[in-house]
Amino acid sequence: MIDTLPPLREVIATHDLRAKKSLGQNFLLDLNLTAKIARIAGDLSECDVLEIGPGPGGLTRGLLAEGARRVVAIEKDARCLPALAEIAAAYPDRLSVLNEDALAVDWAAHLKPPIRIIANLPYNVGTELLIRWLIPPVWPPQWSSLTLMFQREVAERIVAREGSKAYGRLAVLAQWRCEARIALNLPPEAFTPPPKVSSAVVHLTALEAPKFPADQKVLERVVAKAFNQRRKMLRAALKGLCPDIEDRILAAGLRPTDRAETVSLEGFCALARAVAAD
Ligand code: SAM
Repeated sequence: MIDTLPPLREVIATHDLRAKKSLGQNFLLDLNLTAKIARIAGDLSECDVLEIGPGPGGLTRGLLAEGARRVVAIEKDARCLPALAEIAAAYPDRLSVLNEDALAVDWAAHLKPPIRIIANLPYNVGTELLIRWLIPPVWPPQWSSLTLMFQREVAERIVAREGSKAYGRLAVLAQWRCEARIALNLPPEAFTPPPKVSSAVVHLTALEAPKFPADQKVLERVVAKAFNQRRKMLRAALKGLCPDIEDRILAAGLRPTDRAETVSLEGFCALARAVAAD
């Protein structure tokens, strides 16, 4: 056991925390596994941790037992609060719980850097949260790493390289300014109740500067348009982005007949620079 609190099955029964599908509730009940996920993020003793969706607190307990300096956990479901209060009492001054919607809260105001974000995300908002973390108004971001559970298919899209089916907007945005890797694969049975699909923990470390220069907004626009019609050649997919798009594709060292899924991260950054040029 990693702590002296009751086993999670007992916590769920005591507080009647039946999983709600609408909130993406698939709980991790194995505390050895949650401690393992916490360790993927590295030494937490000098870090504040933001956790989204603690639920009954399995991962929260893993983070605290592994020595996180402080954990701020944002949970939308008020039914979980009494169980989380018991954890806060067992780890005095180290856990704050906000009963809020993670999409609406100003999380950075509640933590001190360095900040690591670690979460078994609700699947319905996971990608939206990731995109927001990847494209903050300034870089480097307020967080230094993200350790996040996703459906395996989404995890593969984050770490995909050009030429693969999973390569797209998520891969480019994630890998432009982060090192991203799949750190752990989990079968459906690792969760209660088990989801329909397998899951994976992705670990992303924020780089000080982008791997290749580009304006964030222009890169976002180019990548979104290019992958919106991923099977089309660039000259057709990017039509309307700017009047002389074929020249700009050539100026970026690409061919107008290339398809988005074969263009490397470096190629997209060159294209964003060519599109932004006067
Ligand atoms: N961390 C727990 C674990 O690993 O067992 C629970 C993970 S469960 C996949 C996702 C959690 O996110 C649920 O507790 C759910 O209530 C919560 N949640 C769903 N949508 C949310 C939102 N918009 N903001 C904050 N929490 C949310």
